[in-house]
Amino acid sequence: MLKGKVAVVTGASRGIGRAIAKKLASLGAFVVVNYNGSQERAEKVKQEIEEAGGTAAIYQCDVSDYGKCETFIQNVITEYGHLDILVNNAGVTRDGLLMKMTEEDFGKVIDTNLKGAFHTIRFASRQMLKQKGGRIINMSSVVGVTGNAGQANYAASKAGIIGLTKAAARELASRGITVNAIAPGFIETDMTSVLPEKVREASAAQIPLGSFGKPEQVAAAAAFLASEDAGYITGQVLHVDGGMAM
Ligand code: NAP
Repeated sequence: MLKGKVAVVTGASRGIGRAIAKKLASLGAFVVVNYNGSQERAEKVKQEIEEAGGTAAIYQCDVSDYGKCETFIQNVITEYGHLDILVNNAGVTRDGLLMKMTEEDFGKVIDTNLKGAFHTIRFASRQMLKQKGGRIINMSSVVGVTGNAGQANYAASKAGIIGLTKAAARELASRGITVNAIAPGFIETDMTSVLPEKVREASAAQIPLGSFGKPEQVAAAAAFLASEDAGYITGQVLHVDGGMAM
């Protein structure tokens, strides 16, 4: 149970982040649902949480902006008194073959997926150090481990997340803060719904368990890593990918 805990979930207006926010709230946490552009969808997530008996707030912040992340995290701490769980889930893709990839597309993905996680960890960990405890969960991807043609920017950002996770885990361990990553495979969300049917079929054929995963299956892994039961696990990458990267 996560009763009394305050959790921030970035990119929680849709997809995996939404499922994580709802799961943590169902376990008793007060959840701050972060979004960037999808205000209506974030409000809907808050409403769904409240209808199920949970508590939540929404907060707009572009995680690629260092200064805005400082204000965001500090406002959460001032408003709710503490910060116990940080889930860095916000992510974007700008796919393209290396020869055609623009510097802007490379930068956009690194700034959101990798620097965004650094920004929030930078400010949340200061509070967690004071509290002598906390849980940080960063969203990587199977392609951060295996690579993927057409996703040099995305794969680099997700491999970077694994390095960031391990470095932060080592730095923060002595104060009881655990830092872990989740590496999902293909999960049914807006991000994968844009894939052409042929690519979906070819992708599904590479999955030993035979099908795309559901956001709730990633949320279950996040809830475990956020729990007391996971207190002796840090610096790990938990694969939720139907066996793709074994
Ligand atoms: P999604 O459906 O496209 O949702 C992305 C979420 O990230 C949205 O809530 C979006 O908020 C938010 N976001 C994007 N840019 C942001 C920014 N600059 N600041 C704050 N929030 C921002 O994606 P998803 O499939 O749920 O993926 C969630 C995470 O899992 C990502 O890190 C992704 O890389 C990772 N992942 C996904 C899969 C998969 O198969 N789906 C596989 C492996 C890893 P707004 O809509 O408000 O802008």
